[in-house]
Amino acid sequence: GTHETTILVVGALHPHAVDGIGKAFRIETLDKGDPALVTPELAARVRGVAASAVIDGPFIDALPNLEIIANFGVGYDKVDAVFAESASVMVTNTPDVLTEEVADTALGLLLDTVRELPQAQAWLRAGKWESQGNYPLTKLSLRGRGIGIFGLGRIGKAIGRRIEAFGLPVAYHNRNKVDGVAYDYYPTLLALAEAVDTLIAVAPGGAGTEKSIDADVLRALGPDGVLINIGRGSVVDEDALIKALGNGTIAAAGLDVFADEPHVPQALIDLPNATLLPHVGSASQATRRAMANLVVDNLVAWFRDGAPLTPVRETINVKRRI
Ligand code: NDP
Repeated sequence: GTHETTILVVGALHPHAVDGIGKAFRIETLDKGDPALVTPELAARVRGVAASAVIDGPFIDALPNLEIIANFGVGYDKVDAVFAESASVMVTNTPDVLTEEVADTALGLLLDTVRELPQAQAWLRAGKWESQGNYPLTKLSLRGRGIGIFGLGRIGKAIGRRIEAFGLPVAYHNRNKVDGVAYDYYPTLLALAEAVDTLIAVAPGGAGTEKSIDADVLRALGPDGVLINIGRGSVVDEDALIKALGNGTIAAAGLDVFADEPHVPQALIDLPNATLLPHVGSASQATRRAMANLVVDNLVAWFRDGAPLTPVRETINVKRRI
């Protein structure tokens, strides 16, 4: 059985995941992925890590018997998966179970940003409908827009299906053209931004996408431009975005993710044309529970069969050491 196997939970983790790990394994906890917190006893015993926290190279090095890191979340930019691969450590994430939920949130954020629905609700709640009359007509509309998706993967495709149902054209940028998709492909993000007025970013974080939505990309969207970011905050140059929203380079932005969460720059909060959500893309009870189950199932499958359910691309060839 797996009950002698020790799994280390690093940082705050969904309680249902902690329960599931505790039922199948021996469980230990650590506040954060800091090598200084790893006792010799822990170093000797830990064979798996479960987290949605930073797991870097030095921490992986501090756990010589580590075999697997089960990340809670489909985005695993906080885990150094390249280093893990070099240390023969498997990394898993939680794809698919959150795809439709995050796509739903993206469409809600798009509508809120373009049609000012949160502001209109605030108007009603403040009694202004009765005292001052109708909420002002919105300057922006979704009608007539062209949507560009940056990151046409699992979630990007689910967003694309929804945009099609809204009757709007979809184009996209990835490093690779996607087979079996009729949307226009742009080999650079700048070319995509020049072709559309509405950019929905759902690309992963990490070095490959760091600040790729910069001043040039925002300028290319134009004065009616709308940016929606539901991927990772690191993908946007936040200072450039604050400037672009402030001086009318683009019209509005809707953000679920930020460069330095949970800190949100006051300059963004002060902008009336920014719609801001506290990283709630997948945050329903049902979807978070499904993600928790997948974290546990990956650990169980690894220690039982040596084959996790959802390995990340970087560690797809890592095998169990016997
Ligand atoms: P996928 O891996 O299915 O899709 C990622 C897409 O991004 C792929 O199409 C990939 O195409 C593209 N991409 C990756 N790197 C680059 C790059 N450097 N330049 C251009 N395109 C790139 O992931 P999911 O759709 O499942 O999830 C996407 C991301 O959404 C997650 O990584 C996570 O960060 C974020 N997310 C946010 C949530 C929230 O709560 N706000 C919830 C869930 C996910 P190619 O490889 O061809 O470049």
